[in-house]
This record gives sequence, C-alpha cells and structure tokens, in this order.
Amino acid sequence: MLSIKNLHAGIEDKDILKGINLEVKAGEVHAIMGPNGSGKSTLSAVIAGNEHYEVTEGSVELDGEDLADLAPEERAHKGVFLSFQYPVEIPGVSVTNFMKTAINESRKAKGQEEMPANEMLKLIREKSELLEIDRKFLSRSLNEGFSGGEKKRNEIFQMAMLEPKLAILDETDSGLDIDALRIVANGVNKLKSENNAIIVITHYQRLLDYIVPDFVHVLYNGKIVKSGGKELAYELEEKGYDWIKAEN
Ligand code: ADP
Ligand code: MG
Ligand code: MG
Repeated sequence: MLSIKNLHAGIEDKDILKGINLEVKAGEVHAIMGPNGSGKSTLSAVIAGNEHYEVTEGSVELDGEDLADLAPEERAHKGVFLSFQYPVEIPGVSVTNFMKTAINESRKAKGQEEMPANEMLKLIREKSELLEIDRKFLSRSLNEGFSGGEKKRNEIFQMAMLEPKLAILDETDSGLDIDALRIVANGVNKLKSENNAIIVITHYQRLLDYIVPDFVHVLYNGKIVKSGGKELAYELEEKGYDWIKAEN
C-alpha cells in the first residue's frame, strides 16, 4: 500500500530525512519510534504532502502511484489521513456538523453526491457507538475547551468516519495522559482491518502497551536504523535510546 524509497527531505537547507525506506501493507500496524528530533513528525508531514518540506530525493507511493505531485487535499482524498497535532477550535460548530462537512467535502472531491441525511446519522451513530462516544460530546463545539483526551477522541472519531486507507497518528512529544493514550489505542484497535494500514508515531513506549504493532521501526537522525516486531518496543522500553545512538 505505502512504499517509501530512499526518501530525502528537508527544510530550507537543513536535511532532516536522510534516506528512508519503508513498506507498509494493507492490514498492518507499524509503529515508528525514536528520540526527539529524529524526524518522525517530518516523515508524517512529508507523507501527507506538507509543502513546508522539500523532497530532494526518493519517492512516496500509495498503491503504486507516486504522490510527489499531489497536494495534501488530493492525498487525503486518496485515503491518507494524518492526525492533527494542533487541532483547531471552531466555536459554534458541533462535532457532528464538523464530521458531516468533512464527509461531504471528501465525497464532493471524489465527484460523489452528498451523503443522504439518514445515512449520515446512521454512520455517526455506528462509529460513535464503536468508539464509546456519548451524545453530549457530539453536540459540543469543536475542540472548544476540550481536554487532551477529548481532542484525541475527536481525532479518532474523525478517522473512523473517514475510513482512511492509510492513517498516520503522530502523537507528538507533548505528553498524552493515560486516558488519551487509551482512547487512541482503543480507536486504532477497533478501526484496523484487512483493508487499511496504520502508522503510529510515538516517542513513548507506553502507547504500545495498548496498541500491538506488527512492526516497530526506530528513526534516528533521519534514518530508520532498526526494524523489528513488537519485542523491539519492549527492548526500547528497557534500554532507552542511548544504545541506538551509540550504534549510529
Ligand atoms: P521528531 O518528530 O522525531 O521529534 P521532527 O520531525 O519534529 O522530529 O524534527 C526533526 C528535525 O528537523 C529537528 O531537528 C527539528 O528541529 C527540525 N525541523 C522540523 N521541522 C522544522 C521546521 N519547520 N523548521 C526548521 N526545522 C525543523
Ligand atoms: Mg519533536
Ligand atoms: Mg514529532
């Protein structure tokens, strides 16, 4: 599904990604870990098409199609979803209305009609029940006064509604509380299927106590320096990143 080959990218004259190779197949959950400043968020931004970063070498393909010339919205319409690191507050727009707009915008971009209201309600009900989101939450203003956990819940709900082919969850370095971690993990575990792939980017090992990844990759200094199964996450938990730094 996702094939990244020898990806180099940076900003202005700073090289950040220095030759990333990564293959992600449908049905897989990959965790990308690594010390602060390694390039994890840059990698997710480059996959999503963030135009602040310049790709200087290599390629990112989705289902065999090179994404290089596609804008972030076009990538989104092809099924790439990147969680928001800094969600916006939209006073007066409820979570439900935001989701309706997001769904219909996405359909419009694909040349489809708006989703009929009854179908939309059914989808909202189904996904909110799956993620144990209560009614009161659905009528709240988007992100206004949301706790960290509620922001995550909203983000995962959005992911559930849009059913992306490839979801990238960048958990940032800003410390999620344990509730937020559980929400993310629970959402990922319920939404994973044979048809989608999920990349979870995290600085912390503890998220992986809740999400069991099929593969774990360590990104350090712009390169994937180690890949393994879930046992690699436990090894990192025990030993930290110093041995990785020493080896590279
Ligand atoms: P991580 O997510 O692994 O902590 P980042 O991708 O955020 O790492 O950052 C990797 C490196 O690139 C860091 O040295 C960071 O300062 C630099 N960097 C990332 N984004 C920018 C930017 N927009 N402008 C300048 N430097 C950046
Ligand atoms: Mg960082
Ligand atoms: Mg980051």
